[in-house]
Amino acid sequence: MKWTLLLLLSACATSSGDTYKTRCGVGPAMDFYTGELIKESWIGVDALQWAEDEILWYLERHAKDPRLYNRKVACGTLTQLKVFVHPTWKWGTPGSEVSGVAMCHMRYIEIGTPEDLKWTSTALTHELVHVMQDCKPVRPAEDGLDNDHANWERDGIFDAIRATWTP
Ligand SMILES: [Zn+2]
Repeated sequence: MKWTLLLLLSACATSSGDTYKTRCGVGPAMDFYTGELIKESWIGVDALQWAEDEILWYLERHAKDPRLYNRKVACGTLTQLKVFVHPTWKWGTPGSEVSGVAMCHMRYIEIGTPEDLKWTSTALTHELVHVMQDCKPVRPAEDGLDNDHANWERDGIFDAIRATWTP
C-alpha cells in the first residue's frame, strides 16, 4: 500500500514538469550563474503568470503591431522561454550596464533582481515583448529610439509595458 502511494506520488512529481511554466510556456526562473530554480515567490510561476497576463492584456489594447495585439499569436511566441535571473539589479561592464536581455534565438531572457523584489520593477515584460517580436521590431526607428526598439513608441508598445508597471 505504501509502495503504491509512493509510486503515485512519484508519477505525480514526474508529470508536474510544467509546474514552473506559465500557460504560454514561460519559465522557470533560474539563477543566471547556477542554473538553479529560484524558489522566491517574487519571480515564481505565479509572478511569471501575472506578468504574462498583464503584458498580453495591455498589448491587446495598446499595440499596433499585429504580432503583439493578437493574444493567441503573442502567447504562442513565448513557448519554451526560460527566464534567467541575475542576483544584482544591473550587470555588464561600466558604461554598458543592463538590467535586462532578450536572447531570442536561444529562447531565454535575463532580468535583474530589484531592491523591492517586485517583478513590476524588472525588465520582465519589456524582454517578453522582444521575444514576441523575435527581436525584430518594425523598422525604421523613430522617436529617437534605437533599432532594437524601432517601433515601440509609435506602435504603443511602450504604453503597454508602462501599464504593466502600475501596481
Ligand atoms: Zn529592449
